[in-house]
Amino acid sequence: MRCQICGSHFEPGLSSSLPFCSPRCQQVDLGRWLNEEHGLPIEPGEGGEDALGADVGNDTQWT
Ligand SMILES: [Zn+2]
Repeated sequence: MRCQICGSHFEPGLSSSLPFCSPRCQQVDLGRWLNEEHGLPIEPGEGGEDALGADVGNDTQWT
């Protein structure tokens, strides 16, 4: 099997980070994916506070 990140050949049975050869390469792939996400104009804090506020409001109503 060939690692998509570093291009080295490895035994799939010996890797715990398929389809990559090592956790390191898995992290590299994750980093690339996150970098693409960061290209979008999103403000994470705003959405998170909204979701938390809704949860608290529901709890108050039910109590
Ligand atoms: Zn690799």
